[in-house]
Amino acid sequence: MPVYCTQCGTGLPGSARFCSNCGAVISAGQPIPGRAPGSPLVRPHAGRQIAGVCLALAQANGWDVAVIRILAVLGFFFSGGFVGVAYVAGWIGIPEELIDMPGAYPPGI
Ligand SMILES: [Zn+2]
Repeated sequence: MPVYCTQCGTGLPGSARFCSNCGAVISAGQPIPGRAPGSPLVRPHAGRQIAGVCLALAQANGWDVAVIRILAVLGFFFSGGFVGVAYVAGWIGIPEELIDMPGAYPPGI
């Protein structure tokens, strides 16, 4: 994936760390605040309402969780139970997000 110098606009290979034209430092990927679309499908502990299925789907696909919840509630009443079954299936099938246990080593695993 080509990158472009932010100082002079020169096209550079994706592995470039410095601009070959002006010598500016090329930052390799800006950190994205929050969760990026495409994060693993897990049910987070923080922010869940019932089982975190809507939140898991929203975060994994980059959707707005409020829209997913509204569609889920509407679907629960108007789909003849299909959405309810799908929600329970997601509750069972989508793994819970791993939490950091105090004292666990190494941290983050
Ligand atoms: Zn440059």
